[in-house]
Amino acid sequence: MKVPFLDLSRVHAALRVEILSSFAATYDAGRFCLGADVVAFEEAFSASAGAPAVGVANGTAALHLAARALDLGPGDDVIVPAFTFIASAWTASYVGARPVFCDIDPKTFNATAETIEAALTPQTKAIVVVHLFGQAADMDPILALAEKHGLPVIEDCAQAHLATYKGKPVGTMGAVGTFSFYPTKNLGGVGEGGAVISQHEALLDKVRLLRVHGSNVRYQHDAVGYNYRLEGLQAGALKVKLAHLPKWTARRREIAARYRAGITLADTVLPQVAPWGDSVYHQFTILQPNRDGLREHLMAAGVGTDLIYPRALHQQPCYAEIGPAEGALPVAEETARTCLSLPIFAELKDEEVDYVIESINAFAG
Ligand SMILES: *Cc1c(COP(=O)(O)O)cnc(C)c1O
Repeated sequence: MKVPFLDLSRVHAALRVEILSSFAATYDAGRFCLGADVVAFEEAFSASAGAPAVGVANGTAALHLAARALDLGPGDDVIVPAFTFIASAWTASYVGARPVFCDIDPKTFNATAETIEAALTPQTKAIVVVHLFGQAADMDPILALAEKHGLPVIEDCAQAHLATYKGKPVGTMGAVGTFSFYPTKNLGGVGEGGAVISQHEALLDKVRLLRVHGSNVRYQHDAVGYNYRLEGLQAGALKVKLAHLPKWTARRREIAARYRAGITLADTVLPQVAPWGDSVYHQFTILQPNRDGLREHLMAAGVGTDLIYPRALHQQPCYAEIGPAEGALPVAEETARTCLSLPIFAELKDEEVDYVIESINAFAG
């Protein structure tokens, strides 16, 4: 048997007629950049995400807009977890601020109040919290720390659509939440997309202004803005897919439970189920000391896996001058060395999951 790490063609085949008919409506009306489809998607996404939403070009743009809306800039430090996708750090770098990397908790792969506190500097002006792999970070202590120091929290929810913390949707607890609709995310377009959500209307107004060249009145530019519009065709496809997201999320959880019950390979750490809310399993990432050996074994068995992420952010060449030095953030570094992400997507069949489990358990080490 061959099990792909991710096969988007399955969902795209299933939704072909529905998505192409949404394209036809957008096409015939010529609503390509913002417009009625974007407004309709923003309304539907707001209801799903639990706070008003602004559709933007992609998840990286969403983070950039969040940083601008919070007036972050040169001279400011922004705390960013060392183990995440690089775009979390662009939040700081795009506005000339400095990302200060903090370590993560080995159980959740997320930053905690303790790791964030250890990274605070007198220049710290904001905290980026990432709900990595679909698991909400432990927000209460983080929010208490942020409040004590008067720091806004940006929640990077690119991997955590529909995830909750003690019943509260991710992205609604900090000052601002950002989402990505890159095709591989739990909610993905057929191209690029993103969103910013916030309970603070003034902050969202700034995001709306900056999204379109800093302009609310034609050819009057009140701020130096961007072209970060969400496209109408994407909004149409995303609205179609959003209706399926709860069902897909439930299926991801089923697959995770199957992995949990089945994987018995020695020395293998499975993702923990946090008491504050189950993951939406953007990834099912295990830790294995002989990660590279296991990966080769699975590849030979026809099972696709991925390394998400093989290198911590403070060890990226682009941040060599910012650091900190190797060894300073040991959990992030060790996780990058031992993590292995298994296939998990809604269309994966039970037989395929079982084959992945059998193949893992057959690894001799
Ligand atoms: C995907 C991702 C982003 C960036 O989103 P794009 O839409 O690809 O720009 C940001 N942060 C995290 C954690 C991500 O996984």
